[in-house]
Amino acid sequence: MLPETMLAMAVDSATRTLRATRRPVPRPGAGEVLVQVRACGVCRTDLHILDGELPPHRHAVVPGHEVVGEVVLQGPGATRFAMGARVGIPWLGRACGTCPYCRTARENLCDAPQFTGYDRDGGYAEYAVADERFCFALPAACDDLHAAPLLCAGLIGFRTWRLAGGAVARRIGLWGFGAAAHIVCQLAVAQGQEVAAFTRPGDTQGQAFARSLGAGWAGGSDERPPQDLDAALIFAPAGPLVPAALATVRKGGVVVCGGIHMSDIPAFPYALLWGEREVRSVANLTRADGEDFFALLERIPLRTHVRSHALADANTAVDDLRAGRVEGAAVLVP
Ligand SMILES: [Zn+2]
Ligand SMILES: [Zn+2]
Repeated sequence: MLPETMLAMAVDSATRTLRATRRPVPRPGAGEVLVQVRACGVCRTDLHILDGELPPHRHAVVPGHEVVGEVVLQGPGATRFAMGARVGIPWLGRACGTCPYCRTARENLCDAPQFTGYDRDGGYAEYAVADERFCFALPAACDDLHAAPLLCAGLIGFRTWRLAGGAVARRIGLWGFGAAAHIVCQLAVAQGQEVAAFTRPGDTQGQAFARSLGAGWAGGSDERPPQDLDAALIFAPAGPLVPAALATVRKGGVVVCGGIHMSDIPAFPYALLWGEREVRSVANLTRADGEDFFALLERIPLRTHVRSHALADANTAVDDLRAGRVEGAAVLVP
């Protein structure tokens, strides 16, 4: 028997905090599943939504798009996952399927997307509803807590890494060593790449964390690695890192910005871009990214570092992320 109501932590845009609310347990519509949340990761995008840096899409939305849970109810026609199956709910909650982007295998750029925890209520709650076509089966080797950060930090990190040349690049730089970078670092090292990790200047603890995960060099964002890089992946939301990263990549190299929001990029000399260097962004994910990423994890086991918080303590988790106090990823547990 499902309870009638549930705890949900919803955005209070006036105070820019999460407010504990009791809401009816949602019912799945056609093609949807109701998922009992076991763990939900805290992503920087949630901060951007909470802080109003992304325009509000839904009043008092429940954030959370790194959701791991169990299917407890199937909506009409939902047959993809059995009752009791473990699923992951990612940021891309639904794409239209008919726009020019969806029709050319770029549903990440869909003209009418629905994002989990932004357009649709997400996983900062005891239950969440998801379109089953956009859910993922998760690697059995990874428990709920450690799987949660894979759903965005892992997936977006993977897409960022791919757009940075994938395994073809020999030396890559990771700017901002948070949840995404700590996953990409393990992935890259396992495939023989050399990783340089850039943290806030003076963050020796973050640099030691990066080295413990296989980074060959770690330093502040004001330092230079010993050798030029083939690609730079920026996960911190700080525009000044773009010219800084450009200055570390070789001719023909690429700088990929993995975040959804970034402060303004300052003006910089053309010489930094000259030499066929590229700057590009990554937007969202496709289901194919997810299938490829989770298949890769069957061969390359990696371990996420997590700190768990009770769902009711979501504000603490969010504040810790904002203050840079999280090593790896923060995860909420109902
Ligand atoms: Zn579309
Ligand atoms: Zn995210």
